Amino acid sequence: ESSIGIETKLKAIFLPFIGKSHLLFVVDMARLFAMHNVDVTIITTPANATLFQTSIDRDSSRGRAIRTHLVNFPQIPGLPHGLEIIDADTPQDSSKLFYQGLLLLQENFQQIIRDMKPDFIVTDMFYPWSVDIAAELGIPRLNCNGGSYFSHAARNSTEQFAPHVNVSSDDETFSLPGLPHKIEMTRSQLSDWVKEPNNEFGYWMKMIIDADRKSYGSLFRSFYELEGTYEEHYQRVTGTRSWSLGPVSLWVNQDDFDKANRGCAKEKEEENGVLKWLDSKEDNSVVYVSFGSMNKFSISQQIEIAHALEDSGHDFIWVVRKTTKENEYLSCLGAGTVPVPDTSILEEFEKRVKESNKGYLIWGWAPQLVILEHSAIGAVVTHCGWNTTLESIYMGLPMVTWPLFAEQFYNEKLLVDVLKIGVPVGSKEWKNWNEYGDKVVKREDIGKAIDLLMGGGEECLEIRKRVNELSDAAKKTIKVGGSSYTKLKELLEELKSFKHQKVNNKMEGEV
Ligand code: UDP
Repeated sequence: ESSIGIETKLKAIFLPFIGKSHLLFVVDMARLFAMHNVDVTIITTPANATLFQTSIDRDSSRGRAIRTHLVNFPQIPGLPHGLEIIDADTPQDSSKLFYQGLLLLQENFQQIIRDMKPDFIVTDMFYPWSVDIAAELGIPRLNCNGGSYFSHAARNSTEQFAPHVNVSSDDETFSLPGLPHKIEMTRSQLSDWVKEPNNEFGYWMKMIIDADRKSYGSLFRSFYELEGTYEEHYQRVTGTRSWSLGPVSLWVNQDDFDKANRGCAKEKEEENGVLKWLDSKEDNSVVYVSFGSMNKFSISQQIEIAHALEDSGHDFIWVVRKTTKENEYLSCLGAGTVPVPDTSILEEFEKRVKESNKGYLIWGWAPQLVILEHSAIGAVVTHCGWNTTLESIYMGLPMVTWPLFAEQFYNEKLLVDVLKIGVPVGSKEWKNWNEYGDKVVKREDIGKAIDLLMGGGEECLEIRKRVNELSDAAKKTIKVGGSSYTKLKELLEELKSFKHQKVNNKMEGEV
């Protein structure tokens, strides 16, 4: 209690999105605030909660004030009951039904926020409406920003200067004006909505950006030592405030159980098998290949990956997603018999690499944090998702970059051209997260990039040196006195003053 009798513990509501990729980092952020003495309520739907409830229960048992408040996902005609998480298996034609559900959900969320009267709200960027409820209640809205500062700077540049309009083909390179470094891209690497800002998603993104501008500020998972130049650039160009609080997933998931069970609906048996396998391998000898929670590859692309890995001189772990769920789902909607992709080639491949002890396939969800931490892992093949990027940097692992969708092509530029800790496979085509895309990256190109990072040559040693320095910085920044730590403390102090000011104003008004 403070001297004027106001409870000093801040009360916050966190609103994660209903899709795995965004959900996990907003939940990590919520747990970070609870770890620092904020009273936290996460509002979500039952199926989404199963993905993280074990972590929340453990945090509660550690004495932290954190809980989940469940709201049922609305029944939408045509959307099967229980389907309430957007991921790569969500068929394209049902996305619209999801958005209908989201609109209804919004009203419930708003009412809960009114009833709970938090001191501030932290929300996923995909809930731009929350800026209005924050204004109504006179409380700060903090936006959990997806992606790197660099990706925002690069997107701003393409929007403001439209350099892609002046090239004559999709493959011709152009520079992004106004950035601290010379960055070149092609039109084929830009998202649909940057190329056609008036499409539906482009319109939504405008609302999101507009809400960011009206918010109290944004929370980033980045850290100052990683891309401080772009942090300053972002603040200057957007005129908004931001706090770099990353890397968050490693900050809140420090014990082995938390690491192993992050993002799992059930406790994993997978962990023991894969760790035992890694224990039998030499340090830095294994490549970890994973494309995050939303990837969707055609069978022909998966076959190229399989060959590249089998032909390479290095051992590997490959997290593979089955591509059959969509077909099952379409059948249940009455779409008739839909051809199920033939995964038998991959099953034979798995058998062979198991026998030779060269590779380990994980079907579905991998305990990524514990795997990356293992000393046998030497490099990561990634789609440049911002979580995986930060996790790899934290562990001192260089990356083979293979961007697919969202802002991943910008992240690749940061890794390859600015930080110089990544080697590209030569991915050229931006696609929607729920599409397969037309282009296939060839096994030779995948193999070449892996060899460069795992080969021990001079370039590889330079890259490893740089990523190790960033890893040290990542570990320091979240400790007492580090920059992310200090930023978090400053933000919490500021939010407390805001609350006190509000209460004082109210008391004065009543006198
Ligand atoms: N992840 C995991 N196991 C998997 C796939 C992903 O634990 O099999 C985690 C990973 O550690 C990361 C997040 O899920 O924190 C994926 O985020 P990222 O930004 O890399 O990719 P996205 O899923 O957003 O495309």
